[in-house]
Amino acid sequence: MQRGAGAWMWSDEAEHHGSAIVALVGRPNVGKSTLFNRLVGRRHSIVDDQPGLTRDRIYGLTDWQGTLFTIVDTAGLVTDEHETDVLLRAMQSQSHRVLDDADVICFMIDVRDGITREDEEIAERLRKLAKPLILVANKGEARFPDVTECYRLGFGEPIVISALHGQGTGDLLDAVIEHLPERSSAEESTAVEYAFAIIGRPNVGKSSILNALVGDERALVSPIAGTTRDAIDTIIEMGGERIRLVDTAGIRKHGAVSSNAEQYSVLRALRALQHCDVAILVIDANEGVVSQDRHVAGYAVDAGKGVVLVPNKWDLLDRETREDPAFLNQLRHDFSFIPGTPIVTASALEGRNLLKILESARNVAESRRTHMPTHMLNDLIRDAVASHPPTISRGRRLKILYATQAEANAPTVVLFVNDPELVHFSYLRYLENRIRSVFAFPGVRIHFTVRKRHADEA
Ligand code: GDP
Repeated sequence: MQRGAGAWMWSDEAEHHGSAIVALVGRPNVGKSTLFNRLVGRRHSIVDDQPGLTRDRIYGLTDWQGTLFTIVDTAGLVTDEHETDVLLRAMQSQSHRVLDDADVICFMIDVRDGITREDEEIAERLRKLAKPLILVANKGEARFPDVTECYRLGFGEPIVISALHGQGTGDLLDAVIEHLPERSSAEESTAVEYAFAIIGRPNVGKSSILNALVGDERALVSPIAGTTRDAIDTIIEMGGERIRLVDTAGIRKHGAVSSNAEQYSVLRALRALQHCDVAILVIDANEGVVSQDRHVAGYAVDAGKGVVLVPNKWDLLDRETREDPAFLNQLRHDFSFIPGTPIVTASALEGRNLLKILESARNVAESRRTHMPTHMLNDLIRDAVASHPPTISRGRRLKILYATQAEANAPTVVLFVNDPELVHFSYLRYLENRIRSVFAFPGVRIHFTVRKRHADEA
């Protein structure tokens, strides 16, 4: 993890895929949100400063030792004053999938209070989930927890941290990494060229699109035998290339919608995102964009994925609306944080543009892998700096000594500079736009990693 400049940065060693979901659970006031902010706040999101895209701060990406994962603050999911009751009920309810979907649970207690009855009730529910679980004793700056008492919960020795001051969080992250599952299913190991995830709110038409594409004898593309029934992913062949459609079993199971469907669909989308190159974000054209769509797209961008927007149910719009450019202009505006993202208007009902969805996703996936020759990148950045030099900050001026593209799946530029503290995010955005004027990268954002280098090393 790179630190320092107030700008979005990635460690270029971090995997931009294959990450997992880690849930922070515990009764109110144990420090879940403080821990969440400490872990997620280390990383600056590309889209956080986009106007109108204030995050709910429930889900956040973080990376540790080169592994990227999503942290969920369950406190954000239950905003009732009787939070523990709601949490317990939610954990009980079949439809509440947040904990089902977590790969690792961090169960937080407050050392100052010892183990309370509420802690024990939550622990009992958590035990039933039989998931990798880490007991986290927070506020450890106050005193050391009574370890024997902690053992009674049945989760072994706690990791003692101070979410407020940061002690122990490195040990906690180490433990999280140790507990993360290896995703090594047969499906994952099938060699494919690209992976797409079809995501979106319930009822926008994801399963209708999937069925029209691969479902029956009139299928538009041929699924590879044996991958369609009960499999998590569906592998298809298009133009001689194998493409993985991620987590399609989940889409087929869409019947079980409930009041928690909204939250569930976000988590499922996040999980699917982690295993794809491009997110196909389906929107109900008739209902328009909701903030959740933008949030999910924001996560996709931050995770270095490509995005294709699919306003579905195009058939429901009257002719006038369809022909009026206002609809698509508004959509472009709503998703302006993903420059050049393709928009494919579709109708699963009428079969409109369904193959085009896959073709667009393929184009985005391919352009995401563009390699920018180092000399071109450096020329480009030199010209950009010459025509608009960085401003002087605290009497010093940023110098960019060298740029190169990282060996990452998503476009990532490593900048070697005199002092990373002098890099302002708005300058990176300017550089990104200049790079984009030559290398388009439709539907994908360029990430930057900033490193310090002395002028004589350049
Ligand atoms: P999912 O939850 O996103 O998988 O959504 P479904 O595929 O189950 O679709 C939800 C509802 O919308 C169903 O009643 C579909 O028949 C309907 N639907 C899906 N696509 C279209 C479309 O293009 N046009 C219209 N008019 N209805 C659609």
